[in-house]
Amino acid sequence: MWGNRGRSAEVTCIACGTSVARSDAREYDKHGDRFDRADKEFEHLCKPCYRDINHQPRGELEALLTESGAGERDREEFLARYAELATGARSENER
Ligand SMILES: [Zn+2]
Repeated sequence: MWGNRGRSAEVTCIACGTSVARSDAREYDKHGDRFDRADKEFEHLCKPCYRDINHQPRGELEALLTESGAGERDREEFLARYAELATGARSENER
């Protein structure tokens, strides 16, 4: 993007798809292992979503993210999938 110096970079919240400044985002590692950073792209959450997640049973989100293909699909595809699953609007034709 523009002026990619790390500080002003924007990241996309994996839960709601909003673009937030990286400095305002919370890193979310779906693998739950923050120490192994090699070859890994961290997911990011905006503050409201991060707060929401803390109020939810974490396992549910993990399952949702995994099933949505977090880290395995294009972001767009993932977000669409995630939205479907999160809202329970999954079509029965799939799978
Ligand atoms: Zn969000």
